[in-house]
This record gives sequence, structure tokens and C-alpha cells, in this order.
Amino acid sequence: MDYQFKNCTELLKLCKQYKLSISQVAIRREMECYKKSRAQVRNQMKKVREIMWNAILLGIRSTKKSKYGLAGGDAAKIHGSLKKMSKLLHSKTAIRAMAYAIATNEQNARMETIVAFPTAGGSGVIPGVLFSTYQHMKSSKRKMLEALFGASAIGVAILEHGGTFSAAKAGCQAEVGIACAMAAAGVTEMRSGTPEQCVNAAALALKNMLGLACDPLGGLVEVPCIKRNALGALHAIGASDLSLIGVKSLVPMDEVVEAMMNIAESMSDTIRETALGGLAVTETGLKIRKKMGLKSIPKKYIAYKKCGSCKKCDS
Ligand code: SF4
Repeated sequence: MDYQFKNCTELLKLCKQYKLSISQVAIRREMECYKKSRAQVRNQMKKVREIMWNAILLGIRSTKKSKYGLAGGDAAKIHGSLKKMSKLLHSKTAIRAMAYAIATNEQNARMETIVAFPTAGGSGVIPGVLFSTYQHMKSSKRKMLEALFGASAIGVAILEHGGTFSAAKAGCQAEVGIACAMAAAGVTEMRSGTPEQCVNAAALALKNMLGLACDPLGGLVEVPCIKRNALGALHAIGASDLSLIGVKSLVPMDEVVEAMMNIAESMSDTIRETALGGLAVTETGLKIRKKMGLKSIPKKYIAYKKCGSCKKCDS
């Protein structure tokens, strides 16, 4: 087994040893692990690419709401805004990345087909960033495929290093946070970044998502999940830009993963996919819960009291 890696340090060593990009190492690892030919591995990822693109195309056209009406129509709205860009601050690539990310997550909320890459909750970031950049760069389909493999190399390294994609274990830092890291690496590879720049982009992206709570309203993967993917896409693009400019993460990627898992250990259960904390127990979150006919949340989970609610003072 020549192309196995247990973390990003080993991934970079393999890149150096064989003079390969992170995507090429990921392809060879997959061939080795599952005894598949290069064509089989590439064809599998081509299917991923196709399903991702279809979800985007359907998502940007649809205004259909999800079952409880919390999501639907934002992707079409953002995509439509590309025609009147003068009012916006971000680049067309960034706005389109948000539209594509939301399109994917809205399709997920409608129970339509998406690729859970790396998870359903964090499924919008990677296609959002990669397809938008692919269009901006007028890149080739081959490069797009390599970017997907590049993103997957980071996902593998995170899991092999003891990380997780599970929000129940580590909160949203492990879902949207990791999706940002993978997207940042993938898009950096698409932009001809070196393996070091790809991994550095991942570290910059994940560092800034550490501690992110999983707090979905009513337990549905819709609010805040969908918009979190859109803003996560911007985050990944920013991390890639910083890395290509030459800004380095002082803390290396493997240590960032360790930090994520350390934080996970100290995270309250209320913000680990239980919908008992954070945004899920705001006034709005509780109203949604009631509307859905879910059991009310015990008062002990709502630690924050609005000033004045004790009626002991007039302030
Ligand atoms: S808030 Fe929770 S359910 Fe929503 S995307 Fe993040 S981890 Fe997934």
C-alpha cells in the first residue's frame, strides 16, 4: 500500500515523494483500497459531479417550499441577482457560489437527490464553490473532477486523523466546517495551488469554523443549515484566496483537526444535533417547534433570559 495516509502531514509527504497533487494521491489511494482501475475511480466521481450539477440546476430554478415551509426559493432569488450585480459587494463567482450552495441544500430540504459530500447538512459548500469557480475560470471538466478528488483527500485525512463528520459528535464544525475545509482545498487545487497551499487553505477554513454549534430549528436540516452553507462557501473562497496570496496558518491542519475534536469533547449535548440549544431554542425556534407539533423543550435548556423578564426591575 503506497498511497495510504493517516493525516495531512502524510498526505503532503506522499505528494512530495511522488510529485503528485493531493487529488492524484486521493485517486491512487482509492484504486489501492478498493482494487479498482483509474477509470473506475474516475467514473464514480464523474457520477458524483453529474448528480451535484443536476441538483444545482434544479435547485436554482425551483421556488417550491420544503414540507414545513422553512426553506425554498432563496437559490432562485440569489441566482436572479446575478443580473443586477451593481448593488452587490462580492464577486459574481462568490454570489453564484452562494446560489449553488443554497440550491443544493434546498433540494435536500425538498427530499430531492443530492450528494452528501461530505454530509447532507454540509452538502452545498463544495458544489457551490467548485462549480462557480469552474465557470469563472472556464475550467475543464477534468480539472473539476480533480478538485473533487482534492476535496475528498482532505476529508479522508480528517477521518484518518481521528476526526468526524458527525454533528451528533462534534457539532456543525464537523459538518459545514469540514465542508469548508474540503472546498477550500479543492478550489485551491483547481486554481493550480501547490499541495501545501491546498492543505493550508483547508486549515485556514476549518480554524475559523471551530466551535460551531449544531442547532437546527425543529431538528430539520434547514435553518440555519442552508444559509450556513452559502456563507461557508464564501469562507472557503476566502481561505483559498488567502492561501494563494501566501498567508499561512500558524497551526497546521492536523492540529486544527485535533482542536476540533477537543472542542467536541467539551461541547454541550444541547448543541450536538439534539435541537435543544442555540438557534433551536430561540423564540422563533420554539414557535417552529410548536407548529410542527413537537414536544416543548424543558425550561432548563433555555438558560438565557431576556433582561427584564424577572420583573424585579424596570430596566
Ligand atoms: S446545524 Fe446541524 S444539522 Fe444543520 S448543517 Fe450544521 S450540523 Fe448539520
